Amino acid sequence: MDCIFCKIADKEIPCNKIYEDKEFLAFLDIRPLNKGHTLIISKKHFRWIWDVNNFGKYFETIKKIEKGIEKSLKPLRVLVLVFGDEVQHAHVHLVPRFENDGHSATITLGKFKDISKEKMNKIAEEISKNI
Ligand SMILES: [Zn+2]
Repeated sequence: MDCIFCKIADKEIPCNKIYEDKEFLAFLDIRPLNKGHTLIISKKHFRWIWDVNNFGKYFETIKKIEKGIEKSLKPLRVLVLVFGDEVQHAHVHLVPRFENDGHSATITLGKFKDISKEKMNKIAEEISKNI
């Protein structure tokens, strides 16, 4: 199966890892809507979040990462977004919002930020330190 998130989970494709345990993996979205935009996936392939094993633990993990984003980046708030049709592997987005972050009151989908590789590494490191 040609699934990019399975390849990331299998370490075939590198990522800016934020958190990993036996079941779940969190990493920075390579097309960030804001700095700290994070994706949380189950390492095992499921099509929809509703199919994910240990669904409760999945959301506990997402909460843990949200707290880490809050602590490290001090955003105004952190959005939780689930679409499910961009990549066919269940994933949840956490998108921090900041003052004057270039988005309107509602976040503008598709308005991606250009963040350097060095900065992405630093952001991932900062968030992971706080989880
Ligand atoms: Zn997959």
